[in-house]
Amino acid sequence: MLSSRYRPWHIPLFLAKYGWLRLRKRPVLLNFEVTMRCNARCGFCDYWRTPDSARATEQADFAAIAAHFRPMLVTFTGGEPLLRRDLEDIVRRVRAASKYTYVQLITHGAMLTLERAQALWDAGVDQFNISLDYLDGRHDAARGIPGLTARLLDVVPRMRAAGIGGVRFNTVIKNDNLDQLIGIVDTAARLGGGVNFSVYTALKNGNDAFALQGGDTAALEAAIASLLAYKRRRAGVITNSDWYLEQIPRWVRGELTEPCESGTTTIHIDPQGRVRRCPDFPADGPWQSYAGYQPISCDACYYACRGEAQAPLRIASRVRDVFATVTPAAHE
Ligand code: SF4
Ligand code: SF4
Repeated sequence: MLSSRYRPWHIPLFLAKYGWLRLRKRPVLLNFEVTMRCNARCGFCDYWRTPDSARATEQADFAAIAAHFRPMLVTFTGGEPLLRRDLEDIVRRVRAASKYTYVQLITHGAMLTLERAQALWDAGVDQFNISLDYLDGRHDAARGIPGLTARLLDVVPRMRAAGIGGVRFNTVIKNDNLDQLIGIVDTAARLGGGVNFSVYTALKNGNDAFALQGGDTAALEAAIASLLAYKRRRAGVITNSDWYLEQIPRWVRGELTEPCESGTTTIHIDPQGRVRRCPDFPADGPWQSYAGYQPISCDACYYACRGEAQAPLRIASRVRDVFATVTPAAHE
């Protein structure tokens, strides 16, 4: 699902940039972790324990990195990026530093007022990726933020009404939200947004209470089948490739044998400007030391960024995924 800022004729330009980057073996996506601080209280991630004093070590500008790599995609992430009061400036400078770069922002959304969203949209954010794992109140408890779901469901339609055209829910598939997935997709479609699914892992702090277990994956497979069927009925709401969704039960059963290609098409830059191959590996050195990563034998997660990087380019389905979303009537 592309932001409304773009039109179909932009797609060949992005594809050309993708090809140019891959030919040069350079990363396509840069994740800028602008802070590790967070004001949620998730039980499955300890970033919120990062002391406030870490603010002093967060670099002010990521533009030089963007200018060096000229990626096709930049994602501002954290921690909670909206805690950075200078986020609009950071976004603006990155946008100016790299042309034809699609800019995304991942947020838990609790501080996303219409005014802040508008300022970030004006600064150059193309797409807001807002975490939402349940519709029935459990999301508030899971994030430790009372009233969060209601706040998100209030601000998203107001963002859309204000002309902010790129809104997705980031939904993590867990062992206790399989019954919520289609409801979240329906809600996103009704609000004029999309959904990007990923899969829970306990890597952040070892909490495996929400991990999907191997063995009987019938319920998971049924949930995945319903998502694939939804994609057939209505393109452009679920943004994952068919391939990624299809592999999730295989990963849960431990059947994936392919090496992880993290760090080849996607890299992470931490708040101090150091590079790492994926969010859950330690930093390797200053970003200037990046010399590429080799695929690695690691199966610890199946985040969408890992799975989608390995997805074969099924032209028909991916073109349908992308073009369906730039049709103005797609979400009406
Ligand atoms: S999962 Fe996200 S919202 Fe929760 S503590 Fe970690 S960074 Fe914050
Ligand atoms: S599977 Fe890949 S992305 Fe996931 S933790 Fe391992 S190296 Fe990182």
